Amino acid sequence: MMAQYLALKAEAQDCLLFYRMGDFFELFFDDAKVAAACLDIALTARGEHDGEKVAMCGVPAHAAESYLARLIKAGHRVAIADQIEMPEEAKKRAGSKALVGRAIVRVVTAGTLTEEALLDSRAANWCVAIGEAAGGIALAAADISTGLFEVIETDRQSLSAEIARLAPAEIVAAEDSDAAVLATTLRPRGEFDSASGEARLKKLHGVATLDGFGQFSRAGLAAAGGLVAYLDHTARGSLPFLRPPVCSRTDACMAIDAATRESLELTQSVQGARAGSLLGAVDRTVSGAGARLLAQDIAAPLMNRESVEARLDCVQRLHDDPGLRDATRATLRALPDIGRALGRLAAGRGSPRDLGQLRDGLDGAWQLGERLEGIADCPPLLADLAPRLRGHGALIDLLRRALVPDPPVDTDKGGYIAEGFDAALDDLRRTGAGGRRAIAALEAKYRDETGINALKVRHNAVLGYHIEVPSRHGDKLMQPDSGFTHRQTLAGVVRFNSPELHETALKVTQAGVHALAAEAAHLEGLTATALDSREAIAATADALARIDVAAALAERAAEGGWTRPALVDHACFEVSGGRHPVVEAALAKSGERFVANDCILSENSRLWLVTGPNMGGKSTFLRQNALIAVLAQAGSYVPAAQATLGLVDRLFSRVGASDNLARGRSTFMVEMVETAAILAQATPRSFVILDEVGRGTSTYDGLAIAWAVVEAIHEDNRCRCLFATHYHELTRLAERCDALSLHHVRAREWKGDLVLLHEVADGPADRSYGLAVARLAGMAPATVNRAKAVLARLEAGREKTGGLAAGLDDLPLFAAMTEPEAEEGDALRDALEALDVDSLSPREALDKLYALKALANK
Ligand code: ADP
Ligand code: MG
Repeated sequence: MMAQYLALKAEAQDCLLFYRMGDFFELFFDDAKVAAACLDIALTARGEHDGEKVAMCGVPAHAAESYLARLIKAGHRVAIADQIEMPEEAKKRAGSKALVGRAIVRVVTAGTLTEEALLDSRAANWCVAIGEAAGGIALAAADISTGLFEVIETDRQSLSAEIARLAPAEIVAAEDSDAAVLATTLRPRGEFDSASGEARLKKLHGVATLDGFGQFSRAGLAAAGGLVAYLDHTARGSLPFLRPPVCSRTDACMAIDAATRESLELTQSVQGARAGSLLGAVDRTVSGAGARLLAQDIAAPLMNRESVEARLDCVQRLHDDPGLRDATRATLRALPDIGRALGRLAAGRGSPRDLGQLRDGLDGAWQLGERLEGIADCPPLLADLAPRLRGHGALIDLLRRALVPDPPVDTDKGGYIAEGFDAALDDLRRTGAGGRRAIAALEAKYRDETGINALKVRHNAVLGYHIEVPSRHGDKLMQPDSGFTHRQTLAGVVRFNSPELHETALKVTQAGVHALAAEAAHLEGLTATALDSREAIAATADALARIDVAAALAERAAEGGWTRPALVDHACFEVSGGRHPVVEAALAKSGERFVANDCILSENSRLWLVTGPNMGGKSTFLRQNALIAVLAQAGSYVPAAQATLGLVDRLFSRVGASDNLARGRSTFMVEMVETAAILAQATPRSFVILDEVGRGTSTYDGLAIAWAVVEAIHEDNRCRCLFATHYHELTRLAERCDALSLHHVRAREWKGDLVLLHEVADGPADRSYGLAVARLAGMAPATVNRAKAVLARLEAGREKTGGLAAGLDDLPLFAAMTEPEAEEGDALRDALEALDVDSLSPREALDKLYALKALANK
């Protein structure tokens, strides 16, 4: 056995090996130690190997899923070695001592899951491969739980943003490739070859050319090929469900890099949860598929205005018609997740319950389709989706006839095929039922004949059906002429058989076995029939998800009084009465009101410098406008009274380091790297928010950097930008930068207390209110008074010297672009450089040292 184990373990490489033994999966050696610690189960020892005790632990096979889930969550991968023959077969093959054949039937990894228990129903589960060829780079992404398959043509600069968008569970790349550093899983180089990738795709989808799916670059083919090869590897030859690849380009979506996603908390809050994120505040979907699609939409706002408008038309139709919206949502809420059910069936891990879900889901879709096709003023996208909801009539009909209303997950006990579907099966069931009745009759008869009221006919796995009496009655039935054969004596009971019972029982058992086999055959046939229309079913699932998203956004808009954004081509950004959906919701919980604010940017007023006290609402204002851009291009209404927006090609958000201390990196460095990326990438169509950039370093450095960044954005990038700062000195930039304007969040001191109005107004803040904020924050009065005294001194000093920004008035515009100053000559350095140490005698060396010292003292 050890030899077989070790061979399988060698094949499993760095995966934990689940080795099937009877009803358990066992783990040995280091695997056992790792799993026992992770799963908190007992570690035992068994036998010896190379003179050492073998560590071992195990999990029951029937509950393996939940253990797998925990191992996968903890970042492990698991290879499952199952028995591939019955013990009888093994004996027939190699004698009574034969070892049952085992093989790795599947490798379970985070990116290749289909099990309900292992997946989040409201999030997609992407496995991504990176392909490189001919100098290009591309991604292939698959969610095999639903069959989604995407090939994304990208470039090196956008790669990490694209990966951040997908937030993959697993990233695969070729060994020794440049992309290997990004990968969680490395595979042989040969699997990422573009020619064989193309061949693999053609074979997978049974086509002679891929033209029908789109134009793939060689890198795209390499990525797709590598991904398919990997999925094939993990599924051990039975490739999971993959729909035809959808080809997309990075520039089809608003570019949002990882840092921006994180700082805007688009789909995850800083704590990593959905709650507290934009997605969490917007999501009113009623189905798992809808929730998954909405997450994708928000992660990838579109660049194509027609597509955005098409989505918005749907949202508006459902927004304006509450009756239709409610009815649609009620229908969708009741439907099972047919996309995931299909994924399990296609992966060979389907159950009768999955077929039942298809039946109910497709039936509900049909009804919804009928209702939507009948509505007046149907927007084109909805009119396009509605027919996809219908068209599975024959399959629904078949499944309705074939399955019981509520089919089980387990097939062991049968009973999932409906009565009347198969006459032969019904016969077998009748025979079985008849037999069971006959057995009950036998029991009554034996009680009568023997006069033993406590006599029972029982069933267990070892003896099958048998007669059981309490020990004190045992002797009576032991008589040779009793007609009973003794089988077993236990502590309190004696067990017997009888020819009649044996015969009847045989009938029952046989009928049962045959019935189970008949049901299993039907399950297989029905699954195959359903899979014949997998593409169409997947399209129906997509349509349901899209409708759920539209209805959910309509619901959210109605709930919050949101408005439909008007999208235009020029680079404006006009929002009146804008709000931050997450902050607003948080405030609403404590009964507070959010103060709506306007933000009006245009080509000649594209940079707003926002000043004002801490806690005044600067960060909130910046973010709410970035979020409004995201929502609008995702096809949603926006939290504002009115919004006219020019499409945003790239969105950037940077937050000054000290707001970000929790990240625990060299924050100032990170801040500078990220800010540099904006200056390098932002275009006149981009939207940038910079929140106190420069605050992570000393005052002078920080001010200087902030100053230079504002200048560069204003002159070079010429993008729309909101810049929050506490450097009042920056307001002087308004004099030189004509597209820059000054704004502040209002505050007032009222009877010695600071009142933050959260209102954005024109002009610079009159003062910083820092001390008032300190008092508001509960700082001891003595300390605040001391600070007041210090401030008075500082301010007096400023009067005299002209303050922190003194001298900036003389700074030529864009001093940053002037040549770096040449370093002054340094005699000491020159003398040292001229020195040939090896050629010096000790005496000469000493002389030189004196000379150098003299030079230094000059
Ligand atoms: P700043 O960046 O100026 O320090 P924040 O934007 O972080 O201020 O806002 C601080 C707090 O003020 C928020 O957590 C929120 O509770 C409240 N706030 C911000 N903006 C508004 C607003 N428009 N209406 C109501 N409350 C607001
Ligand atoms: Mg702030």
